[in-house]
Amino acid sequence: MADHHARRERRDRAVHAAVARGLLDPDEAPVAAFVDVAGIAESARELLAAWPAGVEVLHAFAAKANPLVPVLALLRRHGLGCEVSSPGELAQARAAGFAPERIVLDSPAKSRRELVDALSCGIALNIDNFEELERVDALVAGAESAPRRVGVRINPQVGVGSIVAMSTAGQTTKFGIALADPGNREALLRAYAERPWLRWVHVHVGSQGIPLELNAEGVAEAVAFAQEVNALRPGQVEGIDVGGGLPVDFTGDEDTPTFGDQVAALRAAAPELFSGAFKIVTEYGRSLLAKNGFLASRVEYTKTAGGRAIALTHAGAQVAARTVFAPEAWPLRVLAYDRHGLPSTAELEVQDVAGPCCFAGDLLARERKLPKLQTQDVVVVPDTGAYYFSSPFQYNSLPMPPVFGFDTDETGTGDVMFRLMRAAETLDELVARSGTL
Ligand SMILES: *Cc1c(COP(=O)(O)O)cnc(C)c1O
Repeated sequence: MADHHARRERRDRAVHAAVARGLLDPDEAPVAAFVDVAGIAESARELLAAWPAGVEVLHAFAAKANPLVPVLALLRRHGLGCEVSSPGELAQARAAGFAPERIVLDSPAKSRRELVDALSCGIALNIDNFEELERVDALVAGAESAPRRVGVRINPQVGVGSIVAMSTAGQTTKFGIALADPGNREALLRAYAERPWLRWVHVHVGSQGIPLELNAEGVAEAVAFAQEVNALRPGQVEGIDVGGGLPVDFTGDEDTPTFGDQVAALRAAAPELFSGAFKIVTEYGRSLLAKNGFLASRVEYTKTAGGRAIALTHAGAQVAARTVFAPEAWPLRVLAYDRHGLPSTAELEVQDVAGPCCFAGDLLARERKLPKLQTQDVVVVPDTGAYYFSSPFQYNSLPMPPVFGFDTDETGTGDVMFRLMRAAETLDELVARSGTL
């Protein structure tokens, strides 16, 4: 399991070094994001090691979790593939150097153009609904060769987890073909029987808040369906795409549950998945990246209001939209460092940690007991490597902050090395995306 002490130590050293090198200059760069390059290597290694050697697995990282091209390229070098859900994510995956056969396209609303692109390039495709299946029929009929790798996403309707918006296997969820609806199972079995090129089954039960057992139950439904197809036409379904959704614990530095825990749950619920009869694709996002990135911001001002201590920072909804808009579902830790980037030793006090946006709800933390923050201190928001600074929100025209990858100096001095992964957005660039006169 990942050494969470090492993770915390790397973060502390990175914060200190970032301050020392002016990467968090109070005037020039009051907010920045950081990616733990060694942590990504460790997470990728753990994922690869968690799956048994006897099955053929492609781990396709869900690009939406962190679509920064250098991050995607890093994951590619660690042996992962890439799961994409839009033309933009596909372009990012291509820019990161993924070969078409290492890319999987999922989206509930693929345009005809996207389908043509995927089919002609040999990108794996998961069909969402019966209408899309008909559209693909027409494209396949006109093609010279059989499509390389097409599947159908089923909705196993096994139920929702603790965050309904992130659950994709409810009775009425928008994704996939609802397998238990009257007539659908039979219709889908017929669809496979009539189309020998339908070779995969896809399922993704949800993203955060899904218990391992519920996820495994959904995967078991996909496996059972694949076996039903294969009972009629032996060998037709060659692979199961089991989706992602391993939940992340946002309360500490540990990875719990682990990839190994999820594999164990799958083994218990769907042992046939590991029989060697099926190839496997996984689509993990959050569990690979969340703990390998953090945000850091200077405290610009402090004040009190109605007796409440408030620290005003530069990290708000533009970099942490989920937490600001749905704080109950997406709580984040906030860590206090002093102006030199050392862990703060100030006395604890109950405080709000606010962002820069012009609405009162722009808070990263409410009534949080933290070392008393002062102007120029640094607040660090860990566990934001997935779905946070990598997918900024444009409200209030706050520019995207820079993102730095950090690693230890290879010469063994123990120094922290930074590499710019995304430059801070300039005001000229911001104006350029603000329409034309
Ligand atoms: C979002 C998504 C994932 C990744 O989910 P995580 O919770 O980040 O692991 C995988 N597959 C599909 C189809 C998704 O929509």
